[in-house]
Amino acid sequence: MYSVETDSDVYKTLLESTKAIPWRIDWKTMTFSYIGPQIESLLGWKQDSWGGVNDWVERMHPDDRAYVVEFCVSQSRAGVDHEADYRALTRNGEYVWIRDVVHVVRKDGEVEALVGFMFDISERKKTEEHLLRLQKQLEEYSFQDGLTGIANRRMFDTVLEREWSSAQRSGAPLSVIVLDIDYFKQYNDHYGHIKGDECLRRVARTLSLAANRPRDFIARIGGEEFVWLLPETDAESARLVANKCLHLIRQQQIPHEFSAVSPQLSLSLGVGTTHATQHTTALVFVEQVDKLLYQAKRNGRMRAAFADFRD
Ligand code: GH3
Ligand code: MG
Ligand code: MG
Repeated sequence: MYSVETDSDVYKTLLESTKAIPWRIDWKTMTFSYIGPQIESLLGWKQDSWGGVNDWVERMHPDDRAYVVEFCVSQSRAGVDHEADYRALTRNGEYVWIRDVVHVVRKDGEVEALVGFMFDISERKKTEEHLLRLQKQLEEYSFQDGLTGIANRRMFDTVLEREWSSAQRSGAPLSVIVLDIDYFKQYNDHYGHIKGDECLRRVARTLSLAANRPRDFIARIGGEEFVWLLPETDAESARLVANKCLHLIRQQQIPHEFSAVSPQLSLSLGVGTTHATQHTTALVFVEQVDKLLYQAKRNGRMRAAFADFRD
């Protein structure tokens, strides 16, 4: 003799002592024929307040409601077991993340009932959200530009400091080229942001081919602004790299009907060379090269302006 309890007593005890909340919905009447009493400790709504399916729908976060209900109904109709995550409303107005795991009971080919378990997955969701936030933060701390895959501004600042110190020690010339796409605002306005992003990726890829010594370094430092850092490179060699940038982009023949200087996408460049002793800081040097870029813009764009600060 195991027990005087009947089977159904055993099942009931089991079901009502688990953390998961069991329920059953009668398909024809769309009413709850059962829901575990644990629902009250989780959501605050009393066991007998779960009458029809509508009680379930109305106690769901408005943003989850449409797709969850649509999904569950269509799966149930098709007789497919399924699960759904959603936020359930508690009696005191808060939300709890629930995973509902649903089995469709069929009789003679017809859907007779849905039975399932609701799991409280708030903790898991909290961890997920936390991980997502961490991932975002990591991206912020990252050294790679998400759009083009080349180095970003943060990386540029780091490498610049390193190369600046190295140039100070060695006395070797250091060159910087700042590049900016001409009339890119018009490009975006007319072709759209998606095409604009595509174009930026293509420009990054193309410019990357303009120099290839091991320490040559390219980064995207702004929306449509790039920079080449060329250690141990004098003004003549920097000029070659700058002209190669112009040439490679021209070769791409990227249509830009709305540019005022050319039917194809073009760039303007500032090109500067220095001895690290010539400027107080790397930043002052880069700012001067940036001024050269704007000189190139003023002079008509689609060109470079050069300065050798070593003299
Ligand atoms: P200029 O010839 O004087 O450089 O003019 P411009 O239009 O290129 O310069 P401006 O700085 O006024 O505009 C830059 C534009 O670049 C603004 C924005 O539409 C676009 N842009 C900046 N960042 C991104 C980006 O990440 N993606 C896309 N698609 N467009 C960007
Ligand atoms: Mg521009
Ligand atoms: Mg710009």
